[in-house]
Amino acid sequence: MTILLATANPHKIEELQAIFTEQFAQSNHAVRLISLTTAQEEFHTTHTLEVEETGTTFEENAYIKAQAYFALWGIPVISDDSGLEIDALGGRPGVYSARYGGEHTSFAEKRAMIAEELRSSTPPYSARFRCVMCYHDGLRTIFAEGSVEGEISSERGAGGFGYDPIFQPTGYSNTFGEMSAEEKHRISHRGRCAHALAKQLRELWA
Ligand code: IMP
Repeated sequence: MTILLATANPHKIEELQAIFTEQFAQSNHAVRLISLTTAQEEFHTTHTLEVEETGTTFEENAYIKAQAYFALWGIPVISDDSGLEIDALGGRPGVYSARYGGEHTSFAEKRAMIAEELRSSTPPYSARFRCVMCYHDGLRTIFAEGSVEGEISSERGAGGFGYDPIFQPTGYSNTFGEMSAEEKHRISHRGRCAHALAKQLRELWA
């Protein structure tokens, strides 16, 4: 089964493909995830879509993307949306994580903005990364969720991306920015979400 993973990010494809290959190893179904770039090549088209994430929840944004790409190419789609929720900031940046402080501010600036906003609150600053995935094949729409709890710390580590250097998962002394990719993937919201979705798809296709 070929499924379009609605992303152009090769790291996401790699991470999710590894999880799906492992999760479907004992089943009759092999899942092959293709990126937007690969889909363009296989459909011999330069046609693509810039899908605007106009939703106010991760679920809505994931659904919007899955519907739009299914309408474009007619093959099953998995899309995801994710972000960082900080309790002392009422759940911000949340669905606006990628655009927090404006689309053109760097992540260093976004992280500095958060540190400034948290100055009026008392630590520990509880937070979580949350990820929602949506599978849509024209007939069925399935949602899965994964999250990782932790707290906002001072900036540590140069690994990862986005908010990784300020997120310390519960039970660990390192931030995501100080962890290897393998270590982060083992506990990450995206990994947990992909496992949950693979389980639902296995049941659907059993
Ligand atoms: P998207 O779901 O890949 O579009 O991610 C939305 C935004 O959430 C990203 O641009 C980051 O700001 C943030 N984000 C999501 N997952 C992570 C992560 O694992 N580490 C750091 N930031 C993340």
